[in-house]
Amino acid sequence: MLGILYLVATPIGNLEDITLRAIRILKEVDIIVAEDTRQTLKLLNHLEISKPMISFHRHSSEEKEMEIINKLQEGKNIALVSDAGTPVISDPGEELVKEALNENIKVVPIPGPCALIAALITSGIDAKEFCFLGFLPLNKKTRKDKLNEINVSKMTTILYEAPHKIIQTLNDLKEVTKERKIVLAREITKIHEEYITGTAEELLQKINNPKGEFVIIIDKNTVCESNIFDKMSLKEHYEYYDRLGFDKKDIIKKIAKDRKVKKDEIYKEFIKKDTH
Ligand code: SAM
Repeated sequence: MLGILYLVATPIGNLEDITLRAIRILKEVDIIVAEDTRQTLKLLNHLEISKPMISFHRHSSEEKEMEIINKLQEGKNIALVSDAGTPVISDPGEELVKEALNENIKVVPIPGPCALIAALITSGIDAKEFCFLGFLPLNKKTRKDKLNEINVSKMTTILYEAPHKIIQTLNDLKEVTKERKIVLAREITKIHEEYITGTAEELLQKINNPKGEFVIIIDKNTVCESNIFDKMSLKEHYEYYDRLGFDKKDIIKKIAKDRKVKKDEIYKEFIKKDTH
């Protein structure tokens, strides 16, 4: 019989934040696959659990992944845990889950702490619809694309950020989010837990020497959409809808509507560009 792959959420700071089911599963599985075995050992010692562990991090090889799949195929039950929070969410595991599902191995979530959810529900910012972007890319072009997405987003945006990059990220956000409200959720569930609110500009004044872990919650853009598109070049406008998955015909229709011009005019613009 095949084993089961359990995705076990662990605390994001306070060690009390672990479910009874997570503890039971960690006790019952044959192997714990951990992002950083030293980090997980601290939790296991606290819970008085002793288990064989395999390390599995973002740089782990495909062979390592296959080694875990083989163990599941041999009938071993395995718990995947990350350093903190919910595995797979900005943490390793996505490929392992896909491979396990391909091999008809049962994958079971053991839900629990997740920094983005904890930050969102505490922020006071609209939680009905939100978009989680993880860490902003470092590559200039893709970072700009993401910032453009945030600029026009009609829903709350959530980002993760490391302390040494938070100032740069707020500086970049300042250009697109302007007067929009932002909440920085810092060190959630830990001793220095705090929630700092303001515009990106105000937050830059409020935090100097940022320490700890941060989640950034950005309020949606409530400004009329046409104003936003006015500030985009035609190419950026096209790319915006392209990223949302629309086909060329629909994109041109939408651009024409946003810009209150005839479709033909937009077609002509693109033909002009294509033939140059
Ligand atoms: N899988 C984790 C989860 O479920 O939230 C996220 C892992 S990701 C590698 C680490 C990032 O999550 C940090 O850089 C920070 O942005 C956020 N994070 C994790 N724990 C946090 C905490 N206690 N307070 C604030 N942010 C936290």
